Amino acid sequence: MILLNPKKHNRPYREERSREIMLKTIDFFENKGKQKLKEDDRNRVWYEDFLDFIKENELFYNLLTPENYGDADCRWDTWRNCEFNEILGFYGLHYWYTWQVSILGLGPIWMSHNEEQKKRAARLLKEGHVFAFGLSEREHGADVYSTEMNLTPQPDGSYRANGEKYYIGNGNIAEMVSTFGKMADSGDYVFFVANYSHKNYELVKNVVNSQSYVADFILHDYPVSEAEILSRGQEAWDSALNTVNVGKYNLGWASIGICTHAFYEALNHAANRTLYAMKVTDFPHAKQMFVDAYARLTAMKLFALRTSDYMRAASPDDRRYLLYNPTVKMKVTTQGEEVINLLWDVIAAKGFERDTYFEMAARDIRALPKLEGTVHVNIALIVKFMANYFFNPQEYPHLEKQDQPRHDDFLFNQGPTRGLGNIRFHDYKEVYDFYNLPNLAVFKEQIALLKEFLAGATPDADQQKDTDFLLSLGEMFTLVVYGQLILENAKIYELDEPLVDQIFDFMVRDFAKFALTLYSKPSTTEAQMGYLQKMIKKPAADAGRFAKIWKEHVLALKDIYEMSP
Ligand SMILES: Cc1cc2nc3c(=O)[nH]c(=O)nc-3n(C[C@H](O)[C@H](O)[C@H](O)COP(=O)(O)OP(=O)(O)OC[C@H]3O[C@@H](n4cnc5c(N)ncnc54)[C@H](O)[C@@H]3O)c2cc1C
Repeated sequence: MILLNPKKHNRPYREERSREIMLKTIDFFENKGKQKLKEDDRNRVWYEDFLDFIKENELFYNLLTPENYGDADCRWDTWRNCEFNEILGFYGLHYWYTWQVSILGLGPIWMSHNEEQKKRAARLLKEGHVFAFGLSEREHGADVYSTEMNLTPQPDGSYRANGEKYYIGNGNIAEMVSTFGKMADSGDYVFFVANYSHKNYELVKNVVNSQSYVADFILHDYPVSEAEILSRGQEAWDSALNTVNVGKYNLGWASIGICTHAFYEALNHAANRTLYAMKVTDFPHAKQMFVDAYARLTAMKLFALRTSDYMRAASPDDRRYLLYNPTVKMKVTTQGEEVINLLWDVIAAKGFERDTYFEMAARDIRALPKLEGTVHVNIALIVKFMANYFFNPQEYPHLEKQDQPRHDDFLFNQGPTRGLGNIRFHDYKEVYDFYNLPNLAVFKEQIALLKEFLAGATPDADQQKDTDFLLSLGEMFTLVVYGQLILENAKIYELDEPLVDQIFDFMVRDFAKFALTLYSKPSTTEAQMGYLQKMIKKPAADAGRFAKIWKEHVLALKDIYEMSP
């Protein structure tokens, strides 16, 4: 089974410490129990117990320290970090969030050439500290170019920092807040570290209403020495974007963890509830919703896992991860919302109850598409790859599953963030042709029509500048990429073929939906409308396949997991 079941942890690791980290973390939450988990959530209790657990077991130290800065168990290994992400999401987004913003805070540090600060970060990690990433500002949101935080040079060679940062997780406790700003004189970008406990660091407030602390902080003439500068100019800019490249991938895993727990809870409830002398799960629409939720969740996980392979294998000559990674960010997280919507429609009132995990999931799943660049920002990025993806493929050596216990050094040496339009991809057709399945055949027809649309009714200059138009087109393109990596991993994980076909049942429906959306845009031409209309297709129905998936894959999960009380 591909979904996480904490009570039957079976993910393979090639060494013991990684498994131990996952099992200990599961034990921490199961021992804490569902009642206490929910009570802390309701009362917005600061998660001191979790931070103590991390510290005692040196978990962030092992998981987030590059091999040259820590002991033998330390490395940044995306294979194991994926599962750690998933487990934290499974038990609660707040716990995941303190880990996530530590990752972001560490990005500009590990990417810098400042050895002193790197050694300091490793020491703090060993002592059990968490980290923070001060990029966002209240007035500027996604527009990082307009950053106002600034450093003014002083006669003695040091600097004074002035400015406000907003929405900064762990900003209440991080001894190293990686802070992005500009030099007041030259306007050059700069990353420096600030310490929350300094008297010139004003912690204004927590801007959110939750267990997490998402800080608004102001630096008032905060003294910064040369030794506290992490990077400058282009390097500082690149490390901001490259850090987000690493971090935003994790958002998909938080969604996967949340959906998996919510799925078990919803299924246990519905399959054990009797109405009109039958089980709720006997309603045809309930079956449909569960099968759809399960197929979508399986696809989310297959895609995110396969993206990890490309991130781990990346190099200056292979930057394909830069397409797959924003796809995890925007597609996996929005699919997460879809999964929760489907489940909630079945369990209805139960999803509001204060003692359920689901009630948290329904709230928290909304966050993931919005953080670290919205869905729109990521689709705008994804469409830059479309021309090369469809019309200019390149051969690459076959990429196996990347589960080796090794440090992912390239993530901290990603280099310049420019030149995205030059990145080339292996031919998507290869894996689409590997399977011979009815829904895949329909989906391939839709892809062929999309290519014809792009070549025969190419969006004009105005349409290419119209983000409303581009977003719908981007959604269709994203589906092709999504399908490709799902198939690659279906092969690697030897997924049951009927399940692969069931996944492409929703892919066909989603493709048709986006085609209709684009069809309805004000600027779509007659020629474009013609192609789009042809893309509206119906999946290949197969009652036998559906019944098999329902019985063997979905209903089989009933009562296999329930969090300890
Ligand atoms: C709970 C929480 C925790 C956070 N933690 C951190 C943190 O630790 N550190 C940190 O630095 N930040 C953090 N953030 C900030 C977060 O990354 C921003 O919210 C996010 O980048 C988007 O900014 P915004 O919400 O202000 O939207 P805005 O920038 O105001 O965007 C408004 C709209 O414009 C669209 N838009 C903007 N630019 C583009 C574009 N180029 N193309 C297409 N559409 C565009 C957006 O999609 C959106 O719909 C956090 C936010 C929250 C809510």
